[in-house]
Amino acid sequence: MKTTFRILALALVLVCAFSCMIACSKDGDAVDYIIYSDNSFPPFEFYDEETKAYIGVDMDILAAVAADQGFTYEVKNEGFDASMGAVQSGQADGMIAGMTITEKRAETFDFSEGYFADGQILVVKAGSDIASFEDLAGKTVAAKTSTQGAEYAQSMANEYGFTVVFYEDSPTMYTAVINGTNDACIEDRSVVGWAIKEESLELTTIGEVINPGYYGFAVKKGTNPELIEKFNAGLASIKANGKYDEILAKYGY
Ligand code: GLN
Repeated sequence: MKTTFRILALALVLVCAFSCMIACSKDGDAVDYIIYSDNSFPPFEFYDEETKAYIGVDMDILAAVAADQGFTYEVKNEGFDASMGAVQSGQADGMIAGMTITEKRAETFDFSEGYFADGQILVVKAGSDIASFEDLAGKTVAAKTSTQGAEYAQSMANEYGFTVVFYEDSPTMYTAVINGTNDACIEDRSVVGWAIKEESLELTTIGEVINPGYYGFAVKKGTNPELIEKFNAGLASIKANGKYDEILAKYGY
């Protein structure tokens, strides 16, 4: 009898200890939000070999907003199209990826206030004969899946007689233009500007900015309104306290 009791008591203690372990470790690791981002979109998000971490304007703004608003998060830098999918499927609570706020996207996403102004631009290899959209007849134009650049390229393809070729990330798209696989690409001006200036890529921009707009933080439409509120409140406070300007200055703005 005594032995049975001891075994039962021991079993109870073990069960309690084990369930506490699960609960505790869950609490310890849990973050408030899972945020997705692009995997290579400098200066907004890019892998830093020195610190072995993702850095950039978006990463710093998110960190500053989270610190200001007191929430925890984990970023998964999976790519732009993957981020849009993760937000729509509920795998991610939100995304920050140099994502342009558009009316069409607002049908399926809720956006924060804009935090950075930029638009797209036509890009060719340095020294190319192509000087305008008119020169693209019969040529191929690279674009990143699901981006505004891709949407614009598709909308112009018939008129100018070029074919759009899709890539999942900016570096692969640039390589395709530099090595001659494609004749041009469409990319956000500040991002290709960084690639030319900081990475000395043999690319050059042509003409004016297309579709100027604002980048925003996004959640799936109708979900997480509190996260949009926190982002907006945090953004307002880092704009007021100088942190926002400090972040932009760090990346040359
Ligand atoms: N700003 C562009 C868009 O929203 C590109 C974003 C990106 O490539 N990360 O489509």
